[in-house]
Amino acid sequence: MRQSNLFTKTRKLAPKDEVSKNAQLLIRAGFIHKEMAGVYSYLPLGRVVLEKIERIVRDEMNKIGGQEIKMATLHPSEPWKQTGAWDNVDVVFKILSRTEKEYTIGQSEEEIATPIAQEYITSYKDLPLALYQIGQKYRDELRAKSGIMRGREFTMKDMYSFHETQEDFDRFYHTAKEAYLRVYERCGLVAKATEASGGAFTTKLSYEFMVLTDAGEDDILYCDKCSYCVNAEISDSKAGGGCTRCNIGSLARAKASEVGNIFDLGTKYAKDFDFTYKNRDGKNVHPIMGCFGIGITRLMGVIVEACSDEKGIVWPKEVSPFAVHLIAITGGNKDIIAEADRLYELLVDNGIDVLFDDRDTRAGEKFADADLIGISTRLIISEKTMTEGSVEMISRVDGVSTMIPDSEVIRRLTD
Ligand code: ATP
Ligand code: MG
Repeated sequence: MRQSNLFTKTRKLAPKDEVSKNAQLLIRAGFIHKEMAGVYSYLPLGRVVLEKIERIVRDEMNKIGGQEIKMATLHPSEPWKQTGAWDNVDVVFKILSRTEKEYTIGQSEEEIATPIAQEYITSYKDLPLALYQIGQKYRDELRAKSGIMRGREFTMKDMYSFHETQEDFDRFYHTAKEAYLRVYERCGLVAKATEASGGAFTTKLSYEFMVLTDAGEDDILYCDKCSYCVNAEISDSKAGGGCTRCNIGSLARAKASEVGNIFDLGTKYAKDFDFTYKNRDGKNVHPIMGCFGIGITRLMGVIVEACSDEKGIVWPKEVSPFAVHLIAITGGNKDIIAEADRLYELLVDNGIDVLFDDRDTRAGEKFADADLIGISTRLIISEKTMTEGSVEMISRVDGVSTMIPDSEVIRRLTD
């Protein structure tokens, strides 16, 4: 894409009412637009990052056998009353229509996913099943001050799984846990899996995936030697205490943000909807159910919190809005402009995802904008590189610069 065509522009200052770093940087760089507290629109750069995160999540969910669907967002109130959530879950939005009918909009979708599965699962032969979607969620959150990390509207991947036995749920949980850790790693983050208490409707365990960041709302204790990690709120352990798992390390306390979680729902929802299937002995029994969430927009916010410096965002490669930021420093020189145009076409023809700063602006402004936007790899064409028959490649992560002969640019980018 040519930057001269990008309708968004960067801005020097963040809006005064934005206190979180993720919203400040994303607004300044033109990724998002604030509609009200906790509600943002995603502009071209922001939309493309979300799509990249979604692609990673979709890829990993498909690999473990998840089947993607798209559930309704506008829900009748009846299933929500049937499960008790209508009266018991405080973040549920309630809508009254002009004919006095009650509706809600999805804040989680067990109430829709369970009846869908019920229609198709009649025998043990239909199990296990894992359905997932990536879509908008709406919650009447009291405080929404963490930018896109806590929205009243946000994007979530929610998966619902159905199993014959607890063993089968445990097997799937372990597979999903590995897939979750791969998702975070591909997003450039290190997540820790904590053990935490279950949600409102279950006494069973749940697992949270936490990324260490001061912008997070959770406190965790983690072992400095092994992968043990626990939510400080529910734990008897203390910071500085020994790790009870490896017996080697000691526990450190840190702020973290929950970028995903897994709940073992047991038979709660199957019972609410009177959902049974015929087991191997011909008896009608309830399936065991799990739900698996990933906060897609929160993940994007956490990436910005974790991967940024005083100049702007530093996108990890796989979620960078473009693979390459091509910057032409032309000083109005027609030969340099022509060479930059040629290279841009060459990159596009080779399937390389490129943002081309072809604007007629000062070099300083182009570099400052490139730092703020944070595309992981930068290519620069200038008078100096032209005379050398090369292009300068700079990594946004460490600022390391390499001169690359013209003929090798494509190979270096596609390696
Ligand atoms: P939290 O404790 O942070 O409120 P939660 O326990 O309510 O999270 P779930 O209902 O299980 O979370 O949602 C699944 C995932 O969706 C969470 O792990 C988080 O990453 C994300 N998420 C939850 N609430 C929000 C929100 N208001 N804005 C953005 N993402 C959210
Ligand atoms: Mg919540």
